[in-house]
Amino acid sequence: MAVLSNSTADRATFRSAAMPAARAKTGRLIVFTGPSGVGKGTLLRQLLARHPSLRVSVSATTRSPRSGEVEGQDYYFVEREAFQQMVERGELLEWAEFAGNFYGTPAQPLAQQIALGQRVILEIELEGARQVRQTFPEALQIFVLPPSLEALEQRIRQRGQDAEAAIAKRLARAQVEIAAASEFDVQIVNDDLESALQQLEATLFAEEP
Ligand code: ADP
Ligand code: 5GP
Repeated sequence: MAVLSNSTADRATFRSAAMPAARAKTGRLIVFTGPSGVGKGTLLRQLLARHPSLRVSVSATTRSPRSGEVEGQDYYFVEREAFQQMVERGELLEWAEFAGNFYGTPAQPLAQQIALGQRVILEIELEGARQVRQTFPEALQIFVLPPSLEALEQRIRQRGQDAEAAIAKRLARAQVEIAAASEFDVQIVNDDLESALQQLEATLFAEEP
């Protein structure tokens, strides 16, 4: 595929053209990042069960579906060419390559949810989080840490969904991501799940009346 460009200018265009009504409400955007296998999906599933008014953006990806993953619910699974077209048409708020696949956030559904006053969570990797930080500095940025690298590896293996080569890529990338945790507004260690969930709730609902 051709080299994809995800310049700041492209994203700024999205911000000014696609979201004028939502601009004042971008504090409702929540970025949720952390290394693969740390438990982001698990935490978000439990969070949504407790707080059904929260929304989680559904990303597009060129990765193949894992068993049990549902199209349009976990991801929009697309071919690389289709992903490239989404980029070229400016349909993605941010996108990045991760462990050999492309991932991106569709802009339009997000704009609609924010315009409706909904709080929307983007569960995305580090490069995407950095792009969103430039476009929406008001977004709340949360980073989830594992108790240790050993625990992280154990979780990825226990999930049993990734081939050995993919596990190695994810672990190598995890060290880079963890080193950037302090860039984020809040860091949560997902050791005991319930306690991590409570910290997440405290962070999200701290400013509500
Ligand atoms: P991510 O979405 O960050 O890639 P997942 O939510 O898929 O991670 O979790 C990876 C694995 O770790 C899953 O098998 C999940 O059940 C397990 N897991 C998540 N949180 C914890 C925790 N606090 N303690 C032990 N295992 C956990
Ligand atoms: P997985 O393949 O394990 O579902 O996801 C791999 C990584 O891609 C995770 O860190 C996940 O947060 C990230 N990711 C998922 N969707 C997006 C997206 O739309 N944009 C970016 N930048 N990263 C994403």
